[in-house]
Amino acid sequence: MYGPGETDDLYQVLGVGRDASAADIKKAYRQLVRKYHPDANPGNKEAEEHFKKINHAYEILGDSQKRAQYDQFGTVGDMAGGSPFDGFGGDVGDIFGDIFESVFSGMGGRRRANPNAPRRGADLEMEAEVTLLEAAAGASKEFQIPRWEGCSECGGTGAKAGTSPETCSYCRGSGQVEAKQQTPFGQFVTVNTCPKCGGAGRIIKEKCPACGGAGRVRKTRKVEVKIPAGVDTGTRLRISGEGEAGVNGGTSGDLFLVVSVAEHPDFKRDGADLHSRLVLPFPQAALGCTVSVPVLNGEPEKLSVPAGTQPGKVFTIRGKGMPRLRGPRGTGDLHVHVTVDVPKKLTEKQRALLEELAREMKVEVEDSGVFSKFFRNLFD
Ligand SMILES: [Zn+2]
Ligand SMILES: [Zn+2]
Repeated sequence: MYGPGETDDLYQVLGVGRDASAADIKKAYRQLVRKYHPDANPGNKEAEEHFKKINHAYEILGDSQKRAQYDQFGTVGDMAGGSPFDGFGGDVGDIFGDIFESVFSGMGGRRRANPNAPRRGADLEMEAEVTLLEAAAGASKEFQIPRWEGCSECGGTGAKAGTSPETCSYCRGSGQVEAKQQTPFGQFVTVNTCPKCGGAGRIIKEKCPACGGAGRVRKTRKVEVKIPAGVDTGTRLRISGEGEAGVNGGTSGDLFLVVSVAEHPDFKRDGADLHSRLVLPFPQAALGCTVSVPVLNGEPEKLSVPAGTQPGKVFTIRGKGMPRLRGPRGTGDLHVHVTVDVPKKLTEKQRALLEELAREMKVEVEDSGVFSKFFRNLFD
C-alpha cells in the first residue's frame, strides 16, 4: 500500500531530527496523535489526512529495523506481515487503549444504508410568475416542470426489458467493501464504495435502452397548479408528489413553487392594500365631480370627488385591495392618489378663459396670444 519512495519526509512528519532517539520519536508521536486525532478534529479532513501520515511515519520510524531501512533507501519495501504491535513496549495497552476504541468507532463505524432500499425523490423548487390579477383572483396555471421520472420502459430497474439486475458478487449487494489496514494501533477498517458496482449493489448486464440503466428519465412534465387568491412574491406553494421520482420504488419528492408577482402598470401592491393614481383635470378638482375609478379585480367604482380636492389627496375604497391569504380574513383596500392635471397644450379659447380666470384671481401670468392683449387693452 505504500508506493515506492515516501512523498513526505517521515522525520519531518513527526517533527524530530534524524538523530532522534527511539524515546524522542515515541514522545513526539504521542503528542501528535493527541493533537490530530479525528475525535479531536471532527469533520476536519486535513487533520484526518495528517493523522494517517503520523501513523504511517511512526510505523516506520518507531521500528528500529524499518527505520534503518528507511534511512538507507528512503523507503520501506515490505510492510506486510508482523504483529501490528512490533516495536512497541509493553505499555501499548495502557497508553492507547482509549485511542483504540475511538479509532474503531470513528473510522469503521460509519456505514451507508442499503443502496437498494427505496429512497424518496428529491424535492424540486421553481419560480412561478403570476400577474397581479391572478394573485388577486386566484388562478389555475400550467407549469412546465423538467424533472426525473421513473423509466416506464424498464419499470425503474434500469435493466433491459426481460432481464433484471443481478446482485453484485463482489460486495454481495451491500455496495461497499471493507479494507483492513494494519497499523501500530491495530487494525483499521475503512469502508469504501464497491469498485465493481459503484455502490449500487447490483449489476445491470443489459441496460435498458430508454434510460441507459439509470432507471429514471429526464422529462418535462406539465403540472396544473391552483394559485390561491392572495399569494404574494415569496409565497411557497407545495404540490405534493410532483418532485423528482423516487429510487428503487421510493415515493416522489414534492414540488415547491415560489411565487413571483409581476409588476402591474396601474396598481402597486402593499401587502393586502393596493395603490393607484387618479389624474383629475384642474376644473374637476376645483369644482368637484363624480368619476369612475378602475379597480384591479371587478367593475370600476364610482368615486365622488368634492370641490377643492388637492393634489396628493388619497381616497380609500374599502375592500377593493388584495384578498388576504393568511391572518385576518377579508380583503385590503384600494388607495386612490389624486394628481391634478395641468394641460400642456391649450386652444386659444381655453387660454383666453384661463387668462380671464387669472385676472379674476388677481394672479400674474405670462402674457401671450392675441386674446390676452385684446382683453388687457379692454380692461386697462
Ligand atoms: Zn458491488
Ligand atoms: Zn429504463
